[in-house]
Amino acid sequence: MSQKITILGGGVIGLSTALYCARRGMKVTVVDRQPADRGGCSFGNAGMIVPSHFIPLAAPGMVMMGLKWMWNPESPFYIKPRLDTAHAG
Ligand SMILES: Cc1cc2nc3c(=O)[nH]c(=O)nc-3n(C[C@H](O)[C@H](O)[C@H](O)COP(=O)(O)OP(=O)(O)OC[C@H]3O[C@@H](n4cnc5c(N)ncnc54)[C@H](O)[C@@H]3O)c2cc1C
Repeated sequence: MSQKITILGGGVIGLSTALYCARRGMKVTVVDRQPADRGGCSFGNAGMIVPSHFIPLAAPGMVMMGLKWMWNPESPFYIKPRLDTAHAG
């Protein structure tokens, strides 16, 4: 009898895990809290894990640039200021 496994989260990590478990003969069920076309990092990133894209984030000057971007609503790193105690600490 094959093992049964349930994976929570259908992002790239959950689906990759599901694929390898299935290849090992396990009966896999993937459960996500939202439809496939909503949210999650893998949706925003089009399902890619691309180490080469990470290098610019580690480049000199990025910390200062990130601090400036936090205040610019047009930037990719904008964080909208709001009174939300869940984000306070
Ligand atoms: C715009 C953008 C660009 C990026 N660029 C890069 C890049 O260039 N290189 C790189 O390496 N990485 C990049 N990343 C990061 C990369 O996309 C993430 O690290 C990766 O997608 C995370 O995958 P994950 O499966 O862990 O999480 P997710 O893709 O977030 O999947 C988690 C899933 O779990 C579900 N879930 C959460 N809680 C529950 C629950 N309680 N029950 C059921 N389901 C649940 C969520 O709905 C979601 O679908 C980028 C991310 C973004 C948003």
